[in-house]
Amino acid sequence: MSETRTSGPAPADRTAIGITFGNSNSSIASTVDDKAEVIANEDGDRQIPTILSYVDGEEYYGQQAKAFLVRNPQNTVAYFRDFLGKDFKSIDPTHNHASAHPQDVNGTVSFTIKDKEGEDAEPSTLSVEEVSTRFLRRLVTSATEYLGKKVTSAVITVPTNFSDKQKSALLAAANAADLEVLQLISEPVAAVLAYDARPEAEVQDKIVVVAELGGTRSDVAVVASRGGMYTVLATVHDYEFNGSALDKVLIDHFAKEFMKKHAGVDPRENARSLAKLKFECEATKKALSIGVNAAFSVESLAEGIDFASTINRLRYETIGRTVFEGFTRLIESVIKKAGLDVLDVDEVILSGGTSHTPRIANNLVNIFPATTTILAPSTNTTAVNPSELLARGAALQASLIQEYEAADIDQSTHAAVTTVPHITNAIGVISVSESGEETFVPVIAPETAVPARRTVVVAAPKAGGDVLIKIAEGNTHIKVTKPEPKANGSKAAKVEDADDSDADFSDDESEDEEEKREKVWKIGATLAEAAVRGVKKGGKVEISINVNADLAVTVTAREVGAKGGVRGTLSA
Ligand code: ATP
Repeated sequence: MSETRTSGPAPADRTAIGITFGNSNSSIASTVDDKAEVIANEDGDRQIPTILSYVDGEEYYGQQAKAFLVRNPQNTVAYFRDFLGKDFKSIDPTHNHASAHPQDVNGTVSFTIKDKEGEDAEPSTLSVEEVSTRFLRRLVTSATEYLGKKVTSAVITVPTNFSDKQKSALLAAANAADLEVLQLISEPVAAVLAYDARPEAEVQDKIVVVAELGGTRSDVAVVASRGGMYTVLATVHDYEFNGSALDKVLIDHFAKEFMKKHAGVDPRENARSLAKLKFECEATKKALSIGVNAAFSVESLAEGIDFASTINRLRYETIGRTVFEGFTRLIESVIKKAGLDVLDVDEVILSGGTSHTPRIANNLVNIFPATTTILAPSTNTTAVNPSELLARGAALQASLIQEYEAADIDQSTHAAVTTVPHITNAIGVISVSESGEETFVPVIAPETAVPARRTVVVAAPKAGGDVLIKIAEGNTHIKVTKPEPKANGSKAAKVEDADDSDADFSDDESEDEEEKREKVWKIGATLAEAAVRGVKKGGKVEISINVNADLAVTVTAREVGAKGGVRGTLSA
């Protein structure tokens, strides 16, 4: 990454912001008194569509450019971020069918648009990097105008599967826009940072699932947060279940309704009608995130016919069921990929525009235990606006690192935000009860990034004397307790939903059959045994466990307040 960085301004001359540069939308954020705020651009938008449009040589961006998708699609460039650093052969142009089409120029993804004034003006062929530069320049200009001083630098978020080539292309595009990139941070880490930076947040060891649900893609990650270090344990990326798929559900619904009323005229068959339909369906979809009813209305939808209708949330959730279930499956699959269980997850952070959708968060409430916090607007009143999380996280990171020299940033902050070596099993102390039963007390949680050091103090037996300490690895497993078989007829009284066959969303379908699942510790290999001799009556023993970067474990045990102690090292 460092090789493509041009020498930027001196730390004292920087004005740094956070940028989320998405396929669908982008956001800019800055920090004021350690609090991150998303900046509204000159149109008043905080979610700025990642779109450029050219009309009579004039460049429009954001929401204004998006509106031109209906009247000026061929000179409007949208959904291009993911093409950065990719060969033409490997891109999926599905989302570009209703805007400027990507072209193959010697393998590079490019767009040909009329960006100059005059009927006879020659069209320009711009590489995706050049388009990105133009767009980033607009974001920076908006931030500069808002802040009243020239923005020089930024932290930009990227999906966890952005390749080195894509990162280099993004850095080059930003540098060409006269923007110094302090750091690229991964989206899930930005989201966790934004939550952890809140004044009320207790930064504690936890397993967090971050679901970044956008317009064209869904990226879900499991992140272990251990002592302020973030380790990405597993990720899944999906291009099928996304905001656009939900738009399509509504497009098909209203198109069919229109066809029924108007002699089979299908508004999806005409490009302009389809663009209008999509635009309005997205607005209806957003309205359904807030209210239980939403209106839909388009002037001259097809063949000059105006169309107005309504839809309620229940109907929407029914027709979109397959997509909603797809989101749930994605989240389940990443937890499995990380070798974990839903019971291991402390928090689920829903991020990205699509995360406003109540059904997505409500479905998660059903698969996670009550101990897991689902951070989404519909399930948690303290949830941060999912559309603002990433930009806020990036801005916070920018404010933390802007004082460093560029070279130091590369060295000091990389490891903290990418996958780092970590232990798989927990390391803890085995305590023995009077009846001789052994229990495992975790000291260093599984998935902790190394090197790591933790200390615990345990009480010695009341009488004092020699205290035997056993240090072992441990891991959790899920203990399932099946319910006692019920007496006859307990299920007979299931109430049928009589009047609306769509309304069969039962939030707790299996309530009377539920088995009990709990997380219990299983003791693994013993790592060390030590005896602390002659502990005083009522004394305490302090145990320090140190795991080196090469995974070698050092254990020290000593009586609190006494001299000496025992120490042993176990190589990796
Ligand atoms: P991607 O890169 O996946 O294309 P993005 O990260 O650029 O997406 P986001 O703003 O996170 O963009 O997500 C855009 C999607 O979120 C769009 O499909 C949009 O319709 C949807 N969206 C935005 N607000 C809401 C809302 N209130 N309710 C439901 N969906 C919403």
